[in-house]
This record gives sequence, C-alpha cells and structure tokens, in this order.
Amino acid sequence: MATWLTFNATTKELVVPKDPIIPFIQGDGIGPEIWHAAQPVFDTAVRKNYGTTKKIVWQEVLAGGKAYQKTGNYLPKETLATMKKGLVSIKGPLTTPIGKGFRSLNVQIRHTLDLFACVRPIHYFSGTPSPVKTPEKVAMTVFRENTEDIYAGIEFKADSTAAQELKAFLAAHDELAKVRFPTTSAFGIKPVSQEGTARLVIAAVNYALAHKLPTVTLVHKGNIMKYTEGGFKNWGYAAIESAFPEQVFTQKQYDKLAKISGKEAANEALKTAKKTGKVIINDKLPDNFLQQILLHPEDYSVIATLNLNGDYLSDALAAQVGGIGIAPGGNINYDTGTAVFEATHGTAPEFAGQNKLNPSSLLLSGAMLFDYLGWTDVATTIRQAIATAIQTKHVTSDFAQNLTTATTLGTQEFGAYLVHLI
Ligand code: NAD
Repeated sequence: MATWLTFNATTKELVVPKDPIIPFIQGDGIGPEIWHAAQPVFDTAVRKNYGTTKKIVWQEVLAGGKAYQKTGNYLPKETLATMKKGLVSIKGPLTTPIGKGFRSLNVQIRHTLDLFACVRPIHYFSGTPSPVKTPEKVAMTVFRENTEDIYAGIEFKADSTAAQELKAFLAAHDELAKVRFPTTSAFGIKPVSQEGTARLVIAAVNYALAHKLPTVTLVHKGNIMKYTEGGFKNWGYAAIESAFPEQVFTQKQYDKLAKISGKEAANEALKTAKKTGKVIINDKLPDNFLQQILLHPEDYSVIATLNLNGDYLSDALAAQVGGIGIAPGGNINYDTGTAVFEATHGTAPEFAGQNKLNPSSLLLSGAMLFDYLGWTDVATTIRQAIATAIQTKHVTSDFAQNLTTATTLGTQEFGAYLVHLI
C-alpha cells in the first residue's frame, strides 16, 4: 500500500517507506514530453536495483496550463497542499508571462513551501559537446538563496500610487536625488535577511562537509549593495564561523591573522587548514566570479549566493558542461524536509510537441530526488545510463548538432534508449 514520506524534525531526516507517494507536475511547453520520457527511466532504475521490494507511486498534481484548463486556476491550493504533505516532489517547467503582473508559479511554489535552497550541481559527462577547452574541470554545486532578494516580487509600477508614495518616502530620507528619472521610474524592493542568509550558507557548508569538498565561496555584490549583498557576505561569514568553529577556515580569519601576525603566519594557517581537511570559506564579487569560472573553474566547488546571482551563475555554468538541457536542480528546505526537484530550463515553447529536446535535466533532477530519498543506487543507475548514452553518442539534437557522427534521438527515443541500457 502506498504511503506518504514523513520527516523526523529532531534528527532532520526523512523517513522513507518502501512505496512512497511522490507528487509530480508535468509542466507546460516541453514539460509533458520530457516527463513521458523520464518516468519509465525512473521506474526501470528502481526495478533494476530493488526488484519488487520498493517502488515509487507517482501522483500527478496540476499546475500551469493543464491546471487552468481543468480548474480555472494556474496553481490550485490542492496542488500545494499535496506537495506539502508528500514532502518530496518533482516538476517540469511552468510558463510565466512577462510584464503582466503575473507572479511566476515557480516562485510561488518556492515561497509557499519555503524552499530556501535551490541546489544546482554542475557536472561534466565525458563526450558532451562544450564551448570550453577543459569542461571536465567544472565540478561545482550552486546553493542559490531561493526566497529573498528581488525575487520576493515586491515591485511598484511606474506612476502607480504606491510608486508616488515611495518617492515621497525617498524624498523624506534625502534619497530621491539618486533616482535618475523619477517621473517614469518603476521600483523594486530587495529584501535580504540575516536568517535567510544563515540557513542558506549553513546548508552549503553542510553539503561541502558531507561530500568532502574543499571550498565554499560566497558570491555577492557587496561593493555596490552594501546592506543587502554586503549583508549576505558579513552574515554569511558570521553564521559559518559560529556554526562550524572547528570545521572551517575563513577568509575573514585569514585576513585577521595576516593583520595581527603577518602574511606568512596566515599562509601557514591556511596550509594547515587545507591539510587537516577544513573547508576553506572565501568570497568573490559576481562579475569577477563569472570570469573565474571560465579561467580557473577547478578552484571552486560549492557556491553560496543570492537569488539573482544564482540564477545567472547556474545557467552560465550549465553552458560550460553542455547547456541547460542537462542541468538539474532541487529546491529544498532542510528544516522541514520539503523538496521540489525540477529541470533548470524553462518550457522552451518553440520546441513544444516536437519530441526534440533533451530530457536529461529532468532525469538528473530525478537522480537528485533518489539521492535525497537515500535510494542512491537508483540515482547512480540513472547517471550511468546517461553517461553511457553520451559516450556512445546516442543523444538528442541539442548535443548531436555539435558532434560529428552522432545518432540523433528524439526525446522519447532517448528515454527508451536509457531504459534499454538499464
Ligand atoms: P527556456 O529554458 O525555456 O529555453 C531557452 C532555450 O534553451 C531554448 O530555446 C532551447 O534552445 C534551450 N533549451 C531549453 N530546454 C532545453 C532542453 N530540455 N534540451 C535542450 N535545450 C533546451 O527559456 P525561455 O525561452 O527564456 O523561457 C520560456 C518559458 O519558460 C518562460 O515562460 C519562462 O518564464 C519559463 N521558465 C520556467 C522555468 C521553470 O519552470 N523552472 C525556468 C525558466 C524559465
């Protein structure tokens, strides 16, 4: 009999039955195609590892166009309630109309379930066409803060009453002169908090420790946005130093030591920290970081950053290892256990219904889901099948167009090929 997952709040661990109910959203655009290609791969990988002793009971929940057609609502309350009860779910991409005051369904899901960490591992599969010379050096996991920053969705339309009131407020605080064209300006608010920062950076360091990774880099534009992005940096260092006093060595500690005892002593302390397996915590500005990931990707392993920086950075990193067709993600609240795994890309409407694009982003998001459940053998099976398909050049058109002598498969055929390999 199918059962729901539960979460032990004391140990912060999921309690996973043998036949968990996992809610899924097919999504808009190419969503249904990639879901239909991926689900048989998931089920085959579970069967291969566990026979009939374990299985996933998939339960469809509605969101996006399909939900609107059936219920008149793009994100029905029942959908969010089932995702909350089920704890762990998976979704395809959902459409967000631009500039119509329509709040992104993805952002609504992340905010309602308080999924504060958007975790995006970037990993190179040998044989994947890449625009860089040494893509195998790119092995990073981005922890993007998922509930704050300008994604809070607090914006005031130009010329609205709220915009006028905000201008009056700015004038009262002697700040209105900084607005170059006040008459026609729209405004956005960027909330960034100490608690929001702390829970995200702590999750990033826990991940680095669990996976024995050498560094966590805080990426922030604190030189320009001193209290928001600069707050992320300062609160981030403080939270890490307080939560992991014995397990990390931070740039702040290095700088302090260099000031008091000299650079040589600081370098010696850094060397010892590396030797004893401490995680090195440093920080970078995003403009510099975007060139660093091209020039020296091997220097970075875990990235903790704010919402918008994380959005840009993870797509740029994905491009280095084959593009967003192969970039997975998970939105996770480590305090409640709630998680929604999803393809990083959007609905690609111009390709919808063509059975053409790559389902690997959703497949690898599924592999992350299985890791999260503790069914790591299943995750490994899925990743190995994708690795073999790419190595033998059985790929979808996004990869085939950049390879010589590849066998081009449609979305469904690629899924079927993986089932055959498993
Ligand atoms: P997109 O990610 O849908 O597509 C951009 C390009 O990426 C495509 O033209 C295609 O070349 C490539 N691409 C996308 N998916 C691919 C795949 N599976 N395999 C190979 N190549 C792939 O971005 P967009 O066109 O800017 O956005 C379309 C819609 O998707 C918008 O409504 C946007 O709001 C939404 N969106 C949703 C999510 C989400 O649900 N998480 C994320 C991003 C965008």
